[in-house]
Amino acid sequence: MIQRPRGTRDLLPPEVRLWQAVEGVARDVFSAFGADEIRTPVFEATELFVRSVGETTDIVHKEMYTFPDRKGRSLTLRPEGTAGVARAWIENGLSDRTHPLRLYYLGPMFRYERAQHGRYRQFSQIGLEVIGADTPLADAEVLAAMHEFFLRLGFDDLVIHLNNLGDPEDRVRYQEALRTALAPRRSELCSDCQRRLDENPLRILDCKVPSCQAVAAKAPAMDDVAGEASRQHVLQVEEQLARLGIPFVRNPRLVRGLDYYLRTVFEVISPKLGENTVLCGGGRYDRLIADLGGPAIPGVGFAIGEDRLIKVLPAAFREAVLAKSRLYLVPLGAAAQGQVLELARSWVREGVPVEVEVSGRSLKAALKRADREGFRAVAMLGEDELRAGSVSVRELTAGSQISVPVAALPGWWHKLIAGPVGKH
Ligand code: ATP
Ligand code: MG
Repeated sequence: MIQRPRGTRDLLPPEVRLWQAVEGVARDVFSAFGADEIRTPVFEATELFVRSVGETTDIVHKEMYTFPDRKGRSLTLRPEGTAGVARAWIENGLSDRTHPLRLYYLGPMFRYERAQHGRYRQFSQIGLEVIGADTPLADAEVLAAMHEFFLRLGFDDLVIHLNNLGDPEDRVRYQEALRTALAPRRSELCSDCQRRLDENPLRILDCKVPSCQAVAAKAPAMDDVAGEASRQHVLQVEEQLARLGIPFVRNPRLVRGLDYYLRTVFEVISPKLGENTVLCGGGRYDRLIADLGGPAIPGVGFAIGEDRLIKVLPAAFREAVLAKSRLYLVPLGAAAQGQVLELARSWVREGVPVEVEVSGRSLKAALKRADREGFRAVAMLGEDELRAGSVSVRELTAGSQISVPVAALPGWWHKLIAGPVGKH
């Protein structure tokens, strides 16, 4: 048997409804905040990610799916969404559009990671980017849209961690300060972090190995080294969040795993996943577009890990989505079989989800199945019903059976669904 590649998943019904519902909420909320969807390719020139995400990051160093195409060009399955959005922004001359331009995206990302809890090799992200505004207000708006999205799904236990990563000029000084502070403890670091100490000591703060985290906890904080401009910027973001009543904690060791961030960075932590399995990460990236050869246009955004989100989705939202019920239409006899699809089509056109019994089950077998599979109601179409222009409907939770004229069935169904049991 051929099996799916390690680290990938099949999303099966009915679970997949949760994905659709979550994506629907993302579209609703982000478009209500003025964003439009953008769809960029799933693979890009490798160079794009090397230059944007950064050569010394884990993503570029060891997680990318990179391959030559038939002409020998190096391509990479996108490990994240922002680089492609920035490239598309430059390539399509989106600088001519309104500023700022608010864009959201949904879709698969690929990283060659050790497959484990909450970590896949193909996973999905939902992201929002605001390109063309450098104000603290823009950061706060992005955070507000994110917060609204989580609220709409019923989350009440998420914690936003926030930090100031400083400006790139500050970073040089910070890297030096870190190297000086951490060098004496080199032997306590994992082998990756020993390399990071030489290449990019900032990355040590992002390491998940406990002994490295213990060392990192004693490292100097970026905010102590950062210039006044970035400190003021992040303070103003915090003020806006406070005004909106959006709770956050300042986490001085938060750095994120991508090189393009500066000033505001944030992560969303779910107590159900723990601090090492982050639900959402984001921040400001004012130099990214210029670094990729575009104009000096600032940006800010985040990406939510949809796989992890689904895993900790609040029970009420989950149940409401999974409880979505269908009507089971059972034809009894040849004459009914001749009419049943037409009847189903007319109901479907009036918004009734109808599942037709197409495999010839007997009434008894059909009722048994309806019970087992949680249908809300069964409509039976036999010879008597055909003559009368009606169906016999059995409501499964109540156990009652009535006769409903064919044309009145959609009205009856919508009322049933709006009632106390079906109300979601
Ligand atoms: P982590 O610290 O967990 O490795 P990251 O810093 O690499 O995350 P980002 O690049 O910021 O993550 O991606 C944003 C979000 O995408 C993460 O917060 C997470 O929810 C999700 N994500 C990242 N990598 C994976 C993965 N391999 N499997 C599932 N979700 C992922
Ligand atoms: Mg990672």
